[in-house]
Amino acid sequence: MLSSMQGKDRTICVVCDMLVSRKSHFKSTFKGKDYFFCCDECKSAFDQNPYNYTLG
Ligand SMILES: [Zn+2]
Repeated sequence: MLSSMQGKDRTICVVCDMLVSRKSHFKSTFKGKDYFFCCDECKSAFDQNPYNYTLG
């Protein structure tokens, strides 16, 4: 559903499923892939347990 709203400048905050810009300052790299977040809380949650939010 949300995937149709994704574009080259947008992605999904994997923590809370909100649409987020790829220019977001809240960004982490995990296993060579960039992840973007809507807020610092989501980035912190991801950083603490990235496996919780990724399949790989
Ligand atoms: Zn979020």
